[in-house]
Amino acid sequence: MDIALSWSVINFFMSKSFKTFLKHTAKDFHNQSVNPAVVRASTIIFKSMQHIRRTQIKAQKNPVGGHFDYGRQGTSTTYILQKILTKLEQSYHVFTTPTGFGSVFLAIFSVVRPNDEILVSDPVYSPTRILTENYLKEFNIKTIFYNPKDLKTLENNISKKTKLIFVENPGSNSFEFQDLGKIIKIAKKHKILTAIDNTWATPYYLKPMKLGFDMSIVSATKYYSGHSDVMGGSLAVNKKVFNRVKIAEKITGLRLGPDDAYLITRGLRTLDVRLDRHSENAKKVAAYLSKNKKIKLLYPYIRNSNNFRMWKKYYSGASGLMGLKIRSKNISSVRKFVNSLKLFGYGYSWGGFESLVLHQEHRETGNRKYMSLNNDEHLVRLHIGLEDPSDLIADIKQAIKHLK
Ligand SMILES: *Cc1c(COP(=O)(O)O)cnc(C)c1O
Repeated sequence: MDIALSWSVINFFMSKSFKTFLKHTAKDFHNQSVNPAVVRASTIIFKSMQHIRRTQIKAQKNPVGGHFDYGRQGTSTTYILQKILTKLEQSYHVFTTPTGFGSVFLAIFSVVRPNDEILVSDPVYSPTRILTENYLKEFNIKTIFYNPKDLKTLENNISKKTKLIFVENPGSNSFEFQDLGKIIKIAKKHKILTAIDNTWATPYYLKPMKLGFDMSIVSATKYYSGHSDVMGGSLAVNKKVFNRVKIAEKITGLRLGPDDAYLITRGLRTLDVRLDRHSENAKKVAAYLSKNKKIKLLYPYIRNSNNFRMWKKYYSGASGLMGLKIRSKNISSVRKFVNSLKLFGYGYSWGGFESLVLHQEHRETGNRKYMSLNNDEHLVRLHIGLEDPSDLIADIKQAIKHLK
């Protein structure tokens, strides 16, 4: 497959700022279309056997050059998305997978082998915890969880067998911000690979590859797509790990399909606009919630906290996802508060245009090593969408009366 045309277009806009790049890239001049074509293909047809061989040789020489001989390697539609994300991440390459969790799995599967050990931040996304703590154990891979607030628990647990430090920042549901630079320093000193789940901020607000991470994961299901209608994941890599991930991608078959790639590319056009608005709305809601004495805000808003300092040091913005730690002896009043919200849907995921709420019952954080909730502490997660923030605040105001 020859997609040199789109490739040159992307190269031209690579030199522009990201906001401009997002709007102008991936035009399909061949079809006179402002958007890329959705190319669906399993079999790719060549002019001759020699043409197949030449393409394969080109692919060997330039493995990120977009030379494919079979649909499982992608089509021009997935390739364009990968190139856009490579620019956003400032990485060597980006692999795209059918779900965000597929990228988590691919990152770990690529570099960890039996008898290795991995260090994982304690408040990771719960399926990541299940994968590392339970499933990898069956393959004789040991997971040690470290305390995101005390990196001595990271450094002191490094052994000769440690292969990977897996970070998620901020912590899932508890929103701890870690000293990312310090983690990289420790990893480099001990020659250990690093991966980060950067779904909360996306590289629009944090560029992990620039900090020195080897791999950076984003669930494209969330802000990249932005419209709650498609799933996908991205795994950005540097040159050091590229070959290992490439092989693992091939043998797992974890490849995003072209229709989903198209929808994610469409969502990305407005990533900057949406994230800036999510952030602005979330700040207004946070300002309102911070006045309530029953609520501790888990969002980089309170200036004198360590979390704020760590966020400020590394991030250029905050997204729309926040936690509320509610103190109440009356759990049914917490449920009543959550259930009385009218503009917040009850459901998993986030990052779409709409507001969402989840009451994290204790069992969902119960297996944490470094965090425990008292009986009178409750975690509620809010995703602040793109509605008018004064409507959102009014909605919270009428519901919060039930909190006792
Ligand atoms: C949603 C999420 C994932 C998984 O993404 P999916 O696209 O749902 O598979 C991974 N990490 C974090 C932090 C997430 O929020």
